[in-house]
Amino acid sequence: MLIVQKYGGTSLMDADRIRTAAMRAAHGVKAGDQIVVVVSAQGKTTDQLVKNARDILDQPSAREMDAYLAAGEQMSAGLMTMMLHSLGQKAVSLTGWQAGLLTDSTHGNARVIGLSSDRIRKELDAGNIVVVAGFQGINEAGDITTLGRGGSDTTAVALAALLGADLCRIYTDVDGVYDKDPRVFPDAVKFDRISYKDMLELARGGAQVLHDRSVELAMQYRVPVQVLSSFRPGPGTMVID
Ligand code: ASP
Ligand code: MG
Repeated sequence: MLIVQKYGGTSLMDADRIRTAAMRAAHGVKAGDQIVVVVSAQGKTTDQLVKNARDILDQPSAREMDAYLAAGEQMSAGLMTMMLHSLGQKAVSLTGWQAGLLTDSTHGNARVIGLSSDRIRKELDAGNIVVVAGFQGINEAGDITTLGRGGSDTTAVALAALLGADLCRIYTDVDGVYDKDPRVFPDAVKFDRISYKDMLELARGGAQVLHDRSVELAMQYRVPVQVLSSFRPGPGTMVID
């Protein structure tokens, strides 16, 4: 099976957490799967980068902001790949543009248009885990774009859709999709499964668990998405028809 695993910022906070994620990815390969790992920036890195930019200029150019913010995910991709190497696992990191993730030119909130290269496929076939920096792509002019805050989910689902993956797993700090934020409401109820349509409504209503565009893409391409905890075992929530 071809599986995309996406890790968010809290799942990559420090070396121990990166190791946990890397071990899971490497285990997938041992089980016979091909694995693409999509990473977010570590912890609150992106917030810090936004702040750094605003310390320089109140309203930075959207193009430069994208070039700058994309670095957070690139750092994660490098560290994750080094960790996989430390485990003896073949792996290679790719930026969004090396992976060929083509977007429109809406800097700061770009939409995925397609995949313009077969680089990922080649690296997978060479036995690598392919670690792709989330949240970023390239436009027709060859400039770096970002997909909007929380957009690494969308990278993961887009790659799953465009590569024809069997499953997209989103590893996060909650153990699935709830009817309301379980970090705020102790009486929140978890779904074992939820339809694309209902998930889209939750995401558009402000549920942070999935980026709304990732759900749109999942629905359009019928990608099964599993939302599950990085830290606790359990099947999480299947987002599916
Ligand atoms: N690092 C980006 C953000 O904080 C993208 C993501 O995490 O999905 O919004
Ligand atoms: Mg998120």
